[in-house]
Amino acid sequence: MRASTPGPAPGSHLIDRYGRIATDLRVSLTDRCNLRCGYCMPPEGLPWLPSPTLLTDDEVIRLVRVAVERLGITEVRYTGGEPLLRPGLLKIVEATAALRPRPTICLTTNGIGLDRLAAPLAAAGLDRVNISLDTLDPERFYRLARRHRLPDVLAGITAAAEAGLNPVKLNAVLIRGINDDEAPALLEYALSHGYELRFIEQMPLDAQHSWRRDTMVTADEIVEMLSLHHRLEPDPTERGSAPAEMWLVDGGPQRVGIIGSVTRPFCGACDRTRLTADGQVRSCLFSRDESDLRTTLRNGASDEELAIAWRRAMWGKKAGHGIDDPSFLQPERPMSAIGG
Ligand code: SAM
Ligand code: SF4
Repeated sequence: MRASTPGPAPGSHLIDRYGRIATDLRVSLTDRCNLRCGYCMPPEGLPWLPSPTLLTDDEVIRLVRVAVERLGITEVRYTGGEPLLRPGLLKIVEATAALRPRPTICLTTNGIGLDRLAAPLAAAGLDRVNISLDTLDPERFYRLARRHRLPDVLAGITAAAEAGLNPVKLNAVLIRGINDDEAPALLEYALSHGYELRFIEQMPLDAQHSWRRDTMVTADEIVEMLSLHHRLEPDPTERGSAPAEMWLVDGGPQRVGIIGSVTRPFCGACDRTRLTADGQVRSCLFSRDESDLRTTLRNGASDEELAIAWRRAMWGKKAGHGIDDPSFLQPERPMSAIGG
């Protein structure tokens, strides 16, 4: 990628100096969570963001509107922390669905509470859901997430499918020594229910800073493990900016995805911009700087002034996440406070 020109053109979409255009907005609705996945949060939890700093529902809706109407955002994904804990979620989804051009609306969730909320969310306009599922074994679930909530997650997955949020996508992170032998069983579960499973390489985004490159389960290993049970062939469908490399299972049409964020980075095709629950724009998961849209908004900025600030924030997006650089430093915010 070659960097160019001094700044974003007025009225432009969210373009960066390398020519990438962000059309996919990830909004974190809360940093709180009812699980404690070790690759994300410490067992004791974290100091939550102070309430006055959190965007209100109306502030979230306004910023999403600016992103859709003025900045070319076509897909909005709500995440967290655990987005189902946000009391105003239904109202926010409904308001997002009323925007024109209507964006695709997605949710990433741990599934707890989805048994109750899947149908109302679908009725409010939610199009798709990704549910995190790292294991099918209750004891392992407890070791991974420190809560006995596997039955709630499974009930949430069933409810999402029944509500028509199809294809239901499942996200799994494999941790060596805990669930790294479970890739084939997770795939059997997904195939037998018609869900689309994707494995995500563990990234250095845990609050405890305990990630280690040499113990991470890699995309190559996952392909190898699955290939002992299934014939995997690269899906010839164009990948575009999607982070998951898709594989056809036993000739298709069912597929499995592998997101090699660390060993097979896709930064060159990244089309994402992020908004944290406290109103900071991040151009990358791994950014170490943020742009404070909340203060700009609360100081009375117009929609166009907000759009200008957002464009400026994205212009500075780095070429890549740099995990392999000797100078790499993990961002201050853990995954739960960024929004995965
Ligand atoms: N609480 C929701 C959930 O778990 O789906 C949404 C937020 S969570 C941060 C979003 C996704 O990020 C989940 O699929 C989770 O497994 C993944 N994730 C969290 N920490 C990660 C890490 N260090 N490396 C890779 N994926 C991670
Ligand atoms: Fe909570 Fe999701 Fe982080 Fe697990 S990955 S602790 S469910 S925010």
